[in-house]
Amino acid sequence: MTASAPDLFEAVRPADLDPPLFDPKAFRLSAHTAALADRARALAQTVFAERAAGYDRDARFPTENYQDLHKAGLLAICIPKEQGGAGADYKTYAIVAAEIGRYCGATALSWNMHVCSTLWSGAIVDDLDLTPQEREEHERRRSLHYRRIVEEGAVYSQPFSEGGAAAAGGVAFETRAVPTDGGWLVSGKKIFASLAGHADYYGILCTEIGPDEKASRRNTLYLAIPAKAEGVSVVGDWDPLGMRGTVSRTLIFKDVFVPEEAALMPRGTYFQAASRWPHMFLTLSPTYVGQAQAAYDFTVRYLRGEQPGTPPVKRRQYPTKQIAVAEMRIKLEQLKAVWFQAVSEAGADPSKDQVIRAWTAQYAVMEGANDIARLAIRTCGGQSMLKSLPLERIFRDSRCGSLMLPWTAELCVDRIGRAALYEPGETDE
Ligand SMILES: Cc1cc2nc3c(=O)[nH]c(=O)nc-3n(C[C@H](O)[C@H](O)[C@H](O)COP(=O)(O)OP(=O)(O)OC[C@H]3O[C@@H](n4cnc5c(N)ncnc54)[C@H](O)[C@@H]3O)c2cc1C
Repeated sequence: MTASAPDLFEAVRPADLDPPLFDPKAFRLSAHTAALADRARALAQTVFAERAAGYDRDARFPTENYQDLHKAGLLAICIPKEQGGAGADYKTYAIVAAEIGRYCGATALSWNMHVCSTLWSGAIVDDLDLTPQEREEHERRRSLHYRRIVEEGAVYSQPFSEGGAAAAGGVAFETRAVPTDGGWLVSGKKIFASLAGHADYYGILCTEIGPDEKASRRNTLYLAIPAKAEGVSVVGDWDPLGMRGTVSRTLIFKDVFVPEEAALMPRGTYFQAASRWPHMFLTLSPTYVGQAQAAYDFTVRYLRGEQPGTPPVKRRQYPTKQIAVAEMRIKLEQLKAVWFQAVSEAGADPSKDQVIRAWTAQYAVMEGANDIARLAIRTCGGQSMLKSLPLERIFRDSRCGSLMLPWTAELCVDRIGRAALYEPGETDE
């Protein structure tokens, strides 16, 4: 039987845990950031790591992990302290999420969707232009969401993808919100909706549109729809290559009444956030920083003959292994360095260089994690990819990173090249 998380929490000694992904002294972390990262690592290493294979095998949502995240105060990580949360800023959240990603990718990735519901409606909205009246109303609405999370352990998701160009930011979302008395009637479909059937609220992006109006990205709404609302259904199965525990099935909304208080951002604010706070789209990457570290750590343990579940056979004496580990370490240090810098400078109205760095970090992490996992399997050899060990799961899970819209690896390359060669408004005409 798995011991309950709080028991392990109290019992665990820092010396029994893996070293932090980002050493607080070397990376000059605040005491608050370091303490939250320690808490997450203790929980993930001692509890989540053991459960991860089962969630993956059965493509089952990590419900027990979410109960433990709630008990550990981590569902409310980005909710302000005055409202009962842990008061983490963007960078702290990112570092904590990377620690969880080391031990259970599906938990870290789906938890990202939940946390972003509070980060986007919280610190990010605080940085944007709102009228005093909008700000007051938003404050009232978001405290409702925060209370549910802190007091009841409510879980939020972020289903945006529709299978068309909207999730990449190209066109307006096809999911429509038609204004009606006291709110909206929402209809549409969301694909790859992590936490489908398991979240209490689906935080969807949709387009507000009246009769005879043309759909515009400026009219994007961000609404928290109760999972139990009439007209909401979860359809299809979920049997993917990796990140199986995210249970990212399809959601259908059919004339769902959504009250005004369900807005997670005031009208027009999502469009402003997407243009002025681009690092909001970098939050899927921490999970994969964790996966990159996990693949590297596995390799070192395995070649030293210290990987639990394998015979104590040393393989580190072969020069080819040493060269491969060096190559992996260089890739790992490179991706962690650019990522740490990018998450450190997240904020409103970044310079062009800062945005290019954020895309670079996303690309380096999402492609790098899977590359390191590939090298890990090649270097450790056949026995390392047995399902009894975590490496083959890390290899499959890390393959999913560069597919995440709106910043897929392809789109990052596209944008970096264009931004490097053209100033805004420049053409070759
Ligand atoms: C494990 C997992 C969990 C997920 N969870 C969520 C979730 O919780 N919420 C959510 O909203 N989504 C989620 N997604 C969805 C994800 O963000 C994508 O929307 C999804 O993978 C579908 O994308 P696609 O590759 O089929 O998209 P397509 O739109 O078919 O794109 C295919 C590829 O073409 C490229 N491309 C797309 N548009 C352009 C363009 N304009 N210019 C150049 N290239 C372009 C991109 O590189 C993209 O990878 C999840 C995906 C995975 C794999």
